[in-house]
Amino acid sequence: MTPDTIYALSSGSPPAAIAVLRISGPAALGAVQALAGALPLPRQASLRSIRHPVTAETLDRGLVLIFPGPDSATGEDVAELHLHGGRSVVAGVLEALSTLPALRQADPGEFTRRAFENGRIDLAEAEGLADLLAAETQSQRRAALSLAGGALSRRVEEWQGVLLNLAAQVEAVLDFSDEGDVAEALPAHWSMALAGLIEEVERQLTRPSSDRLRDGVRVVIAGPPNAGKSSLLNWLAGRRAAITSAMAGTTRDLIEAPTAIGGTPFLLVDTAGLRESADGIEAEGIELARESVGVADLILWLGRRQDCPAPDRSIVVASKADLVPDSQRQDADLHVSSNTGEGMETLIELLIERGKALLPAEGEIVINQRHRAVLAQLLDHLHAAQASDDLLIIAESLRIARNALDRVTGRADVNAMLDRLFGSFCIGK
Ligand code: GDP
Repeated sequence: MTPDTIYALSSGSPPAAIAVLRISGPAALGAVQALAGALPLPRQASLRSIRHPVTAETLDRGLVLIFPGPDSATGEDVAELHLHGGRSVVAGVLEALSTLPALRQADPGEFTRRAFENGRIDLAEAEGLADLLAAETQSQRRAALSLAGGALSRRVEEWQGVLLNLAAQVEAVLDFSDEGDVAEALPAHWSMALAGLIEEVERQLTRPSSDRLRDGVRVVIAGPPNAGKSSLLNWLAGRRAAITSAMAGTTRDLIEAPTAIGGTPFLLVDTAGLRESADGIEAEGIELARESVGVADLILWLGRRQDCPAPDRSIVVASKADLVPDSQRQDADLHVSSNTGEGMETLIELLIERGKALLPAEGEIVINQRHRAVLAQLLDHLHAAQASDDLLIIAESLRIARNALDRVTGRADVNAMLDRLFGSFCIGK
């Protein structure tokens, strides 16, 4: 079945300086001819009048580009119209396209979906593109760009190569043996290669995932009522996200403020004061606060060091430094004042340092929860292969492991194994 030809405004909403309309599918080049006359040379921008195919009215003058398939973003014939970004121009050209048979408006993500279906990008790269569009901080952008650029896909491909080799050797031994129970027939370098692969996958799994990069390092601000938690959150978030008051028990729900500090994404969470309370609603808030401390990546603890709920994840902060003379300062990692800004620079440096350690490092391959789950399954099957001395079980474990790995990139790879196996045979066999 021939696919529909789809079109959409691919740039931001008008009015804007320019607007880019994309068309993809078998009728894309015909659509260009209908609106802009003779086709330009592939990949060369050409200035054309854009005319309505029915009324012949000139709608705009703009650049026309064509990218014949399969060497295009979607793998199909693709055309781009770079127009003036006025509302009426865009609406007029979209309407003109709608009059052409075989063309319809694209669904969300449909261009990328076609790129995936036509093998131009794999699933991991498509996920990277989605992350890139959503990226708000430098670290998010870097990780997304690396995923979209195929960094994870290339790593997966390497692992696939190793796995195929391992499996091919097992199959070969099986073919030439009468018994299944001849694991000793596998050479020592086979076991070493398997152990090496397991180690690499394990190492990848211990690295921080992109989800924390997307949602931000969860920093919970906790401590007794009136310690200045809301004021500190407001200061760090740079706006009045939480209500502050001199009356204890103002913050009854959790307040979450996503904030980028020095290009690092944080999710600041203000909690109700941690204390026993007779007030039912506030008691609920306190329960929430306890839970919130439990799932925090970092805790800014505005209380006494000895009461700190999770010292290894905490920074002990003495607040209201402007009210306390130097001589009376309590034991804390740092002293800050939300009123005067004292100590804030040090706090921010410390937050960035501790936050960065929890995020993927620059240039590191970043995986998301989905990749993580798939790799964990992969690891189970590799361990099963490692633990067994039954060749049939080893072969089966490796086969399932390969399927798991294929799911990272969404590409099934059924014949590669046979190619590898037969490719290792000599001519004439
Ligand atoms: P929370 O209950 O822990 O969230 O505390 P708040 O942020 O609501 O602050 C309680 C009271 O302390 C408010 O009246 C704030 O204005 C005051 N406060 C907070 N931080 C500071 C500070 O750094 N210096 C001074 N002088 N007062 C502060």
